[in-house]
Amino acid sequence: MKCRHCGSRLEQTFLDLGYAPPSNAYLSEADLGKPELYYPLKIKVCTTCWLVQTEDHAQAKDLFSSEYAYFSSTSSSWLAHARAYAEAMTERLGLDAKSLVIEVASNDGYLLRNFVEAGIPCLGIEPTDSTADAAEALGIPVMRKFFGESLGRQLASDGKQADLIAGNNVYAHVPDINDFTMGLKAVLKASGTVTLEFPHLMCLLEHTQFDTVYHEHYSYLSLDTVSRIFEHVGLRVFDVEELPTHGGSLRVFGCHDDDPRATAESVTRLIKEEVARGLQSLSTYGDFQARADRVKNSLLSFLLEQKREGKSVVAYGAAAKGNTILNYAGIKPDLLPLVFDAAPAKQGKFMPGSHIPILSPTELSHHEPDFLLILPWNIAEEVKQQNAGLKAAGTRFVTALPELVVS
Ligand SMILES: [Zn+2]
Repeated sequence: MKCRHCGSRLEQTFLDLGYAPPSNAYLSEADLGKPELYYPLKIKVCTTCWLVQTEDHAQAKDLFSSEYAYFSSTSSSWLAHARAYAEAMTERLGLDAKSLVIEVASNDGYLLRNFVEAGIPCLGIEPTDSTADAAEALGIPVMRKFFGESLGRQLASDGKQADLIAGNNVYAHVPDINDFTMGLKAVLKASGTVTLEFPHLMCLLEHTQFDTVYHEHYSYLSLDTVSRIFEHVGLRVFDVEELPTHGGSLRVFGCHDDDPRATAESVTRLIKEEVARGLQSLSTYGDFQARADRVKNSLLSFLLEQKREGKSVVAYGAAAKGNTILNYAGIKPDLLPLVFDAAPAKQGKFMPGSHIPILSPTELSHHEPDFLLILPWNIAEEVKQQNAGLKAAGTRFVTALPELVVS
C-alpha cells in the first residue's frame, strides 16, 4: 500500500487491532441473524511525510461512509463549542451579511445555525440525508454531496467562494485527503480563511488513545503533516490553536499561500514540539501496541472481576470509540449487557460486533448499576453531571483510558 498523501510505500505498522466491523454499522434486531462483515483494522505510518493512516480496503469505502447515525447536536458540550467558535470567527474575520460561510460535513446544522441566527449567509455540504434534513429544518441551505476538488471547482464557478470554510471533525475522516484539500483551495476566496479541527496525533500517542482508531477515521494528523498537505495544494497554515475537544485537538487556520497574513509563531513552535516529542521518529511508534494492550487487558480484568463478584456493569455512550475497545477486547453482553445512548437513531439497535443492545438513558435510572462504564471518555464530565442521581444512589463511574479509573 502507498501513502495517501505522498505516495511512498508504507512499510511500518503502527497499530494492529485485528478485525472489526465498521464502527458505525449499528445493527437492527433482524440483522443479528445475518453474517456480519469484519475488516482488518490496521494503522500504518509513512516515514516520508509522517501521515499516520488506516490500511486501505478498496471495496469497503462505501460501507464506511453509509448509514452514519451520528447527530452532532446530541452532545451539549459540542453545541457550546460550536457556538463559541462561530462567535470568535465572526469577530476575528469581521463576517457580516455580505460574507459566505461554508461548512464541509455540516451534519445536523449544529454549527451553521449560529451563523443563520447572526444573519450571515452560509452553505452546508453534507451527503447524509438524515442529518441534512435536520439542518434544513433549521433554515440552513444544504448541498447533499461529498466534498472534493470537483465540487470545490463547481462552487467556485457558480460564484460561491467562501470567506470562511469550516471543517470540524471531517479532515481525519476523508479517504482522499489530497483531493479534499484541493477542494478547499478551489472554494476559498482570495482573502478567505479555512479552519479545520481534528484530533492531534501527539495526544493520541501520549495518552494511548487507541480507541480513537476505527475504519472511518482514515488519518491521524500532526500539524507538520497538515502543513505539508496544505503546501502541496498552494495553501498555508498561518495559525494554530490547541483545543481540549476529543482528548486534544488542533484547530488550524489556513489561507492561500500568497495571502499577506504572516504565519504565527505558534505554528513553528508547535511543529518543533512535535519533532521534540518524536513524531518523526519511528521508535516513538514502536511501543504503542503494547501500551494499547495494557489498557485493553485492564478493562477486561475489571469486567471479569465484577462478574465474579456478582456486580452489575453497564456502559454509557454507543460511540465509535466504544466499539473499537469492545471489539478489540472481545467484550460481549455476558460481561457488559447494556449500553445507554442519548441519540434516538441508535436506541433499539445493537453495537456492531459485540451485539450489546442500546437503550435510552431515560431507562438508566431503573437499573441502578454498581458501575457505569463511560465509553466516550472525552465527554466523561458531562456524563457524570447528567447522572449525578445514579452516583447518589451508589453507582460508581468508570473510564478505561488512558488508564482504568473508578470514581
Ligand atoms: Zn507519506
